Amino acid sequence: MAAPRDGLGAVETEGNGGRSESSGAEVVLSSDPATPAPLCPHGPTLLFVKVSQGREGTRRFYACSACRDRKDCNFFQWEDEKLSGARLAAREAYNRRCQPPLSRMQCVERYLKFIELPLSQRKFCQRCQQLLLPDDWEKHGEHQVVGDVSLTQLKRPSRLLYPLENKKTNAQYLFADRSCQFLVDLLSTLGFRRVLCVGTPRLHELIRLKASGDKKSNIKSLLLDIDFRYSQFYMEDSFCHYNMFNHHFFDGKAALEVCRTFLQEDKGERVIMVTDPPFGGLVEPLAVTFKKLIAMWKEGQSQDNSHKELPIFWIFPYFFESRICQFFPSFCMLDYQVDYDNHALYKHGKTRRKQSPVRIFTNIPPNKIILPIEEGYRFCPLCQRYVSLENQHCEHCNSCTSKDGRKWNHCFFCKKCVKPSWIHCSICNHCALPDHSCEGPKDGCFVCGELDHKRSTCPNISTSKKVNKYCLHRRGRRDMKMSLKFYRAVRKKKQRKSNKMKMETTKGQSMNHTSVTRKKERRETAHQYLCS
Ligand code: SAH
Ligand code: ZN
Ligand code: ZN
Ligand code: ZN
Ligand code: ZN
Repeated sequence: MAAPRDGLGAVETEGNGGRSESSGAEVVLSSDPATPAPLCPHGPTLLFVKVSQGREGTRRFYACSACRDRKDCNFFQWEDEKLSGARLAAREAYNRRCQPPLSRMQCVERYLKFIELPLSQRKFCQRCQQLLLPDDWEKHGEHQVVGDVSLTQLKRPSRLLYPLENKKTNAQYLFADRSCQFLVDLLSTLGFRRVLCVGTPRLHELIRLKASGDKKSNIKSLLLDIDFRYSQFYMEDSFCHYNMFNHHFFDGKAALEVCRTFLQEDKGERVIMVTDPPFGGLVEPLAVTFKKLIAMWKEGQSQDNSHKELPIFWIFPYFFESRICQFFPSFCMLDYQVDYDNHALYKHGKTRRKQSPVRIFTNIPPNKIILPIEEGYRFCPLCQRYVSLENQHCEHCNSCTSKDGRKWNHCFFCKKCVKPSWIHCSICNHCALPDHSCEGPKDGCFVCGELDHKRSTCPNISTSKKVNKYCLHRRGRRDMKMSLKFYRAVRKKKQRKSNKMKMETTKGQSMNHTSVTRKKERRETAHQYLCS
């Protein structure tokens, strides 16, 4: 997950997609296979097209697939640009220099040496995020070093390593114990024997921890992740350094084969892929990658199994439902709210759940997935699935219609259920927030979401950022639009909440910032995210 998940409590998105935005860049997926994309340190780049006033430009360019911030990877090349041999060679050298200092094999060797050491000699450098062998001690003498690294600690690297916090490229949001436990139990109940963990290091380690403690649930797990630090803790067959936005294995064919073998083992039976991608990432390249992994699994299937699908859990915010289902029509969204550890606002409160917007999308029939009653879920016999307690079955829609865990209301004019905060507007002829404006520019400013100006004249954008020639922040216009709506909605929501709070003193719930600072913070987050 990445930046936009920041600062969110209860979430509300505004409806109505399909509005055109002004400018940005969009990913072009159908790049000609005859002209392979140039490589950046993160593997093959993606082809983008500049979009101006909602119209596609003609000149297309390549940029990094993984990094949404030019500071993290500044690769740029026009599609029709011809590079000299010298420049190509320099680029190749640069790409090599950017690779991790140790090979995958060296990491494994170091790990094997490390676990042989007596406890007192097992040290971990916090500054360098690295397990140290005695030969390394001197070099890290001045650094903050943790001693007595136990085997238990080694089995939980996601607790030893600090979560990466680079908001745009690699923010890591780790599952809260309760959600992680729920996932592991669910996978085991569903009878899976192998789990391909794509960007889920904490799930990976919990599966392995369980497997080693309990003979019955001997589930195997393979982690694919771009965070190279994890390679210190796993052998070649349980971690591959991988980019999920372009299906790139950093360690080449050998790693790809590890993945293939894992998927095809046991005739491809009882294997599932679980992924929790950075939310700031684009849905489209992810879908392309997942289809490649599915194809890899399918190769190992016999002909008469060709109708079968690789089971998948794709963990992502609920407002991406239509996007995900566009690429994977067989997926449905479960009501289960996935909680995170290093995210105060997503944590379950002691009394009430903080409404996490993150859900599980899956092609496993939802009636097979039991959600925990004690966490506030119930079975709806009409829908044949578990839903949030507050998600009531609407007899008109014949479905439990809520998406966000609150009770939705049926609107007879719109002929569908809508969010509790919405009312039917007879001018707009559909339901909307009471304070919406019926006419006028609904798009508003792309940066801050205010309706009275456009991005180019936004007072909230620093002048240096105003002119951002190759601003990639809207590589997927639609996906980003969703994020923006999300921001606007959160801001409005919080605004309302803080106004309310000013009037009534609430018990226990502390509001340590003033609403003004809050607003500013949120704006900054939005800026950080939206403007590379
Ligand atoms: N909730 C998960 C972690 C999700 S955070 C858990 O607790 O296990 C997103 C994860 O995706 C991180 O581990 C991050 O390192 C990884 N990631 C981010 N960008 C990636 C990319 N381009 N390719 C592969 N993994 C990526
Ligand atoms: Zn160090
Ligand atoms: Zn209804
Ligand atoms: Zn209505
Ligand atoms: Zn603005």
